[in-house]
Amino acid sequence: MSKQILILPGDGIGPEIMAEAVKVLELANDKFQLGFSLSHDVIGGAAIDKHGVPLADETLERARKADAVLLGAVGGPKWDKLERDIRPERGLLKIRSQLGLFANLRPAILYPQLADASSLKPEIVSGLDILIVRELTGGIYFGAPRGTRELEGGERQSYDTLPYSESEIRRIARVGFDMARVRGKKLCSVDKANVLASSQLWREIVEEVAKDYPDVELSHMYVDNAAMQLVRAPKQFDVMVTDNMFGDILSDEASMLTGSIGMLPSASLDANNKGMYEPCHGSAPDIAGQGIANPLATILSVSMMLRYSFNQQAAAEAIENAVSLVLDQGLRTGDIWSAGCSKVGTQEMGDAVVAALRNL
Ligand code: NAD
Repeated sequence: MSKQILILPGDGIGPEIMAEAVKVLELANDKFQLGFSLSHDVIGGAAIDKHGVPLADETLERARKADAVLLGAVGGPKWDKLERDIRPERGLLKIRSQLGLFANLRPAILYPQLADASSLKPEIVSGLDILIVRELTGGIYFGAPRGTRELEGGERQSYDTLPYSESEIRRIARVGFDMARVRGKKLCSVDKANVLASSQLWREIVEEVAKDYPDVELSHMYVDNAAMQLVRAPKQFDVMVTDNMFGDILSDEASMLTGSIGMLPSASLDANNKGMYEPCHGSAPDIAGQGIANPLATILSVSMMLRYSFNQQAAAEAIENAVSLVLDQGLRTGDIWSAGCSKVGTQEMGDAVVAALRNL
């Protein structure tokens, strides 16, 4: 039976970058005889316009039935004034939690051709290749109780809760170790065990899981130090594993080391490696509709999908090589452009990757 891939372009630049990623996916499907069947649906603002909610039940059902989901980005000023519960971003949180996508993988790779795009010195970032594994469905973003209460005297006080169970920690730690095992065999677990009870349990369980991975070198780091080390000497890291909030912050920091948010893909996986794949950036309303967005993060999300959900390593590598070849040719969208390179639009960049992939 064919493998089903659900395409959710979303809002803003989402449809523009997705059109290019789909061209690459369709070519890879033919070239490597992957047997994929693609279907399209709406999410975010586009779904609010069509159904009145950011994720319709039938779309969620199609996502459940699909073998993988490829998503563009959601959100935009048109929907910013809506109630929090029906805003575009709620659709994204809902699909992640309903599909049980607890492991968020965010690589921060600096392509040598783009070394000038980083704000750090080339010798600090050249060759950078980090993978951040972030727990995505637990911790303080979902913890209860939360709210605002009135203290004696009438002052308001707000509070959140940071819960982690042993099983939640164990399964994300395993993803971290599994990833490290097929990469540089180094895992750094990031926590705040000197202060937080949830982090003390986190460290204890990570140590326990480590016994199953004697071939992986484990280290622990407090999150404040990790934030510092990422800008001081980022190449010391191979795989980092951390909780939802720390991962949110550190993965954005790491992505900026590469200087180009338009280049960075991500994967969110469930316990069976079913996943949703999306660029790290948002819907970029400031440049939507202009045909200038960088489609490479979405194209590289396709390659992550082939690698992690379908174990199609050759096809995944071919897409990555095609992207690298296009950068070698000096083609750049505006966000990664530097003097001496040719500035191209979204479609031209997508066409160039398709041509490179065809010729590989
Ligand atoms: P953003 O990532 O959309 O944009 C930040 C900056 O990066 C902008 O200047 C934008 O033009 C640029 N940029 C982003 N992607 C680019 C690309 N592919 N090519 C060239 N330039 C690119 O973040 P934001 O401006 O904070 O948010 C805009 C909207 O996106 C908001 O509604 C926000 O809620 C939403 N958002 C969605 C997601 C998601 O869908 N996963 C993630 C972040 C933000």
